Amino acid sequence: MPQTVSPSAADADRSLFSELPLSPGLLTTLQQLQYRTMTPIQAASLPITLAGHDLIAQAKTGSGKTAAFALALLTNLNPRRFAVQAMVLCPTRELADQVTQELRRLARSADNIKILTLCGGSTMRPQMSSLAHGAHIVVGTPGRIMDHLQRNSLNLEALNTLVFDEADRMLDMGFYDDIAYVTRCCPPKRQTLLFSATYPNGIAGLARQFLRNPQEVKLLEHHEGNKIRQRFYEVAHETRLQAVGQLLQHYRPVSTLAFCNTKQQCRDLLEVLQAQGINALTLNGDLEQRERDQVLIQFANRSCSVLVATDVAARGLDITQLEAVINVDVTPDPEIYIHRIGRTGRADENGWALSLYSLPEMPRIVAITKMIGSEPEWHDLATLQSDDNTPLASPMVTLQILGGRKEKIRPGDVLGALTGEAGYTREQVGKITVTDQSTYVAVTRDIAHEAARKLSTGKVKGKTVRVRAL
Ligand code: ADP
Ligand code: MG
Repeated sequence: MPQTVSPSAADADRSLFSELPLSPGLLTTLQQLQYRTMTPIQAASLPITLAGHDLIAQAKTGSGKTAAFALALLTNLNPRRFAVQAMVLCPTRELADQVTQELRRLARSADNIKILTLCGGSTMRPQMSSLAHGAHIVVGTPGRIMDHLQRNSLNLEALNTLVFDEADRMLDMGFYDDIAYVTRCCPPKRQTLLFSATYPNGIAGLARQFLRNPQEVKLLEHHEGNKIRQRFYEVAHETRLQAVGQLLQHYRPVSTLAFCNTKQQCRDLLEVLQAQGINALTLNGDLEQRERDQVLIQFANRSCSVLVATDVAARGLDITQLEAVINVDVTPDPEIYIHRIGRTGRADENGWALSLYSLPEMPRIVAITKMIGSEPEWHDLATLQSDDNTPLASPMVTLQILGGRKEKIRPGDVLGALTGEAGYTREQVGKITVTDQSTYVAVTRDIAHEAARKLSTGKVKGKTVRVRAL
């Protein structure tokens, strides 16, 4: 029987990590990370997973699912045994990277737990040699992991925990056969955990085939009405894309996720917004991996005001600090609507959920709002006025330094160069992200050009570097 948990009903006393059978090392790490209480999905699923049961868990993006399975697989791990004991399958490299990062943070009390990310888009050979050196945990996409299994570079004999993360999205992306292949290479005696944001039909099939007497935990969506303010604006078909600019100009959110139903609509909207001088970017499957990374980095460090995406492209991304979500197109599915607007108004922040609709779409809006138990607030675009007519600009600009992890650049080196020789204050420097080949640093808009020049004429880590503003 599925257990349904409502976040508001979460019992405060039962949500302390210290109540769980976790190792002292893990408890210390959680304290250091300031994970004080469990999130509702963690509170509901950890007692089940730590008792060794299989699990199907459904909860929206951002609810803390990673730690919910990470703590279980780390508990099952023997660091002294140099063999792959846990594997996490993810739909995309970005998500695999996010999972790897969270695992590394949580695993830091135990020494030398080796975690490898195995995804397509990187060359096989370095992955094969890393595997040959031994790893405790692998995180990766089903296709690439299958490749390794077929080449015998990955041995799963010692595996005790298998996780399907973002299972719904993996199915959307057509990974069923790859997942089935990989799973058949795992020992039958194991713990299998399935995490998903939604629960489409395919999930039940996957669970029936690969999980054993799974317990189910489903977290009901629950948005505090006063945290997400929903407003609906009627538009004519021809003015829909222009209307997005009007909303942005009026509300002036720092970060907005704009949802379209199709890739073409994303491209069209991007063009309109960019023509209005708005810092907008889009995420879609046509981008190369490096371009995708750059888009996400710029959005996360506040140098892109609007990220335009389809539901598929945006799912699972761990993006915080969203002031607004704009539903450019109406989704026919109330569950998707709830997911979209749940991206804003997180963690005690208020958020705007602004939706455009044409008259024939009105009944859909009524049906959706009825389902989520709210009264739609109809608003008129014509009443929007802006006191501030300057184009909406992001507060930060990203500088790309050509040189990254391969050149042993660290965030501190860049911060040092900007606050040292270049003479800027810490407040003028935002997020610094180091990737293999490049380093991205956000700086306030007013100093962007000068900072790029100073960085390229000065030195980072004793070396001259090439820098450009994105
Ligand atoms: P999901 O996989 O459900 O989308 P994540 O696992 O990515 O969510 O978690 C979202 C964010 O919440 C991450 O930044 C993570 O570090 C943070 N987080 C997870 N659990 C806790 C907790 N118990 N307390 C505080 N922060 C947490
Ligand atoms: Mg996740």
